[in-house]
Amino acid sequence: MSSSTAAPSTIPSDLESFLSSPKRMLINGNWVNAKSGKTFDVYDPATDQVIAQVAEGDREDINAAVSSARAAFDTGPWSKMTASERGRLIWKIGDLIEANADELAQLETLDNGKPLAVAKVADVALAADMFRYMAGWATKIEGNTISLNVPYSPGSEFHAYTLKEPIGVVGQIIPWNFPLLMAAWKLGPALATGCTIVLKPAEQTPLSALRLGELVAEAGIPDGVVNIVTGFGETAGAALASHDDVDKVAFTGSTEVGKLIIGAATGNLKKVTLELGGKSPNVIYDDADIDTAIAGAADAIFFNQGQVCSAGSRLYVQRGIYDEVVAGVSEIAANMKVGSGFDPETQMGPLVSREQFNRVSGYLRAGLAEGAEASAGGGTVDRNGYFVQPTVLKNASPEMSVVREEIFGPVVAAMPFDNDSEIATQANNSTYGLAAGIWTRDVSKAHRLAKSVKAGTVWVNCYSIFDAALPFGGYKQSGWGREMGHAALENYLQTKSVCVSL
Ligand code: NAD
Repeated sequence: MSSSTAAPSTIPSDLESFLSSPKRMLINGNWVNAKSGKTFDVYDPATDQVIAQVAEGDREDINAAVSSARAAFDTGPWSKMTASERGRLIWKIGDLIEANADELAQLETLDNGKPLAVAKVADVALAADMFRYMAGWATKIEGNTISLNVPYSPGSEFHAYTLKEPIGVVGQIIPWNFPLLMAAWKLGPALATGCTIVLKPAEQTPLSALRLGELVAEAGIPDGVVNIVTGFGETAGAALASHDDVDKVAFTGSTEVGKLIIGAATGNLKKVTLELGGKSPNVIYDDADIDTAIAGAADAIFFNQGQVCSAGSRLYVQRGIYDEVVAGVSEIAANMKVGSGFDPETQMGPLVSREQFNRVSGYLRAGLAEGAEASAGGGTVDRNGYFVQPTVLKNASPEMSVVREEIFGPVVAAMPFDNDSEIATQANNSTYGLAAGIWTRDVSKAHRLAKSVKAGTVWVNCYSIFDAALPFGGYKQSGWGREMGHAALENYLQTKSVCVSL
């Protein structure tokens, strides 16, 4: 079991200067304390030690940030910039992320716990890419010309066209699993379309977003365009989601809170997009390349400590190879090096918080009590910090909580299936629909299942492949709208039809 008598955090020397200054919020280009003067503690999940005190923003701070974003949208230099100028500044954010990649990766590892190499090649590299990809779109936002045939105005001629306009002030609320990358997914398209922003990072992991705020200013994004308010969900987050001068809220987090966001948005009927939870099926047919599929299935669930909304947490294996695959994934799990993200040997770090540790260990106990059997892991790790064992549960069945509910930890439930007709039904037996994996050498079979599975992303013979160009989002209760790709721009645009009589 994790203990609270932890060793002191090892704060890398690269971070000392950033962490030594007070961690304030970015409002209208200024770094400010919360109006209440309050702060909250941020923890190193590998040691359970406090690493920073961060300003605790609330309604009043959100009000100030929204006013600043409104002024920047309506009358600031941002509103007068050409798309090309906007694109150049967004590109620069990508360059600055790359130039500060080591520091950002260390900050992410310290605050979130993930292995440093992962933070660098996944989180930081993808964040830089996201800004560059979106920078290119700034100059390519176009409406259409439309020919009209108005029945009650025969013989009249019209010139009609659409304009794509930024939606305005957007509130963006993000989770703690990929703190910097989630900020990039949100800020990139909002900036490309010319919106202004109030970003609320997760209270567990606010540090990299604050560093990103410094880089955004350094890139030359005008004051007030990006405001960052740190604070808790129930206070700062709720104030942002319900604010009457916010035109749109983009939320990534749990399905439960997503439903609260929809409720909060009804006051001014602000537009809402949601990236929510998942319980994604990962299907291995008996004609798959088994070694690749086993490694892929392990990576699908253990990447980022399983704290991935699209994690392959329901593993369906065709009966003839079920034992072999379960044994293979279990062997990988049992041999994984779990430890501090700063240890180069580490393959899996701690969970992000004590709350998450309690939640995941609760699911492990429930799964075992309901009759699942751990063929690897099944418990917590006896060291300081929030560590649990990479776990494979076999003998799982559809009614178990570990099969139905999102655990958001390194726990996979493995189940056998017999044939093609049954697997689509099993895969779709979930309230979620974020992602799915398919492993087979039969191209037709892969496309058939890809078509029938109700998920926003389907990976065939691979898993967790993300790219700034590839839209990502959920079917069913996994969300509304898509992030990344061209589709993400639509979240931040509205269409105006203009009709001119000739
Ligand atoms: P969470 O919903 O508790 O918190 C997410 C964010 O919402 C945080 O910033 C939090 O402060 C804020 N928040 C909490 N309550 C709020 C409220 N009442 N009003 C406004 N804001 C509020 O989720 P979490 O535990 O931080 O993250 C884990 C969840 O996020 C998982 O369910 C996971 O699947 C989901 N997630 C989804 C995606 C995706 O792209 N679909 C990506 C990452 C995480």
